[in-house]
Amino acid sequence: MKQYATPPPPVMSLAIYGCGNRFPVRRIYCVGRNYADHVREMGGDPNRSTPVFFTKSRETIVASGTTLPFPPQTENLHFEVELVVAMAGRAEIFGYGVGLDMTRRDLQGLAKQGGKPWDMAKNFDHSAPCSALTKITQVQDLSRAEIRLTNAGIVKQKSTLDKMIWSIEEIIAHLNTTVTLAAGDLIYTGTPEGVGPVVVGQTLVGTIAGLQKIEVHYV
Ligand code: MN
Repeated sequence: MKQYATPPPPVMSLAIYGCGNRFPVRRIYCVGRNYADHVREMGGDPNRSTPVFFTKSRETIVASGTTLPFPPQTENLHFEVELVVAMAGRAEIFGYGVGLDMTRRDLQGLAKQGGKPWDMAKNFDHSAPCSALTKITQVQDLSRAEIRLTNAGIVKQKSTLDKMIWSIEEIIAHLNTTVTLAAGDLIYTGTPEGVGPVVVGQTLVGTIAGLQKIEVHYV
């Protein structure tokens, strides 16, 4: 048996709806600029967009129902509700969830201005809350499903998944030209318009029709 000099990191995992087993998380890929109205609200031109990929560490995963500390180094923490695709293999989908791509928008703005990496704007502690997963065999056609986020009970983001510029299949194919996806990988597929700030004391609820919800509370 191997001996480790320090405790090995725990396996990060997500609950699976209606199933006692858990889904072990490997890597987390996120898609930027995947809804035209969100590209526009961020000052971009959706006609000239190609998908932007970035990553989060698996340790950023947070389960639904969690109370979270407000993160440091930001005065403009934004929510982005997204469909999450969970992979069962290189091109096989295990199931779907609802995720929040939490973003320190002020740090992202500075990074963009300076032509610098986004990592510290996107990949920070607790920055990837995700719902329990629903197996693909238990999911009805998602292509026109409504995606929605409420903050403090008020609807802030509301769209449908058919507004995605790049489809799930295209995102998977595109990623596989650059890396090799594998079982355990999660893909956060981008957010629709309406992103905005969350402050201490507020609760975010993200939903997609037919999937489990994600809910987190900031203190
Ligand atoms: Mn996002």
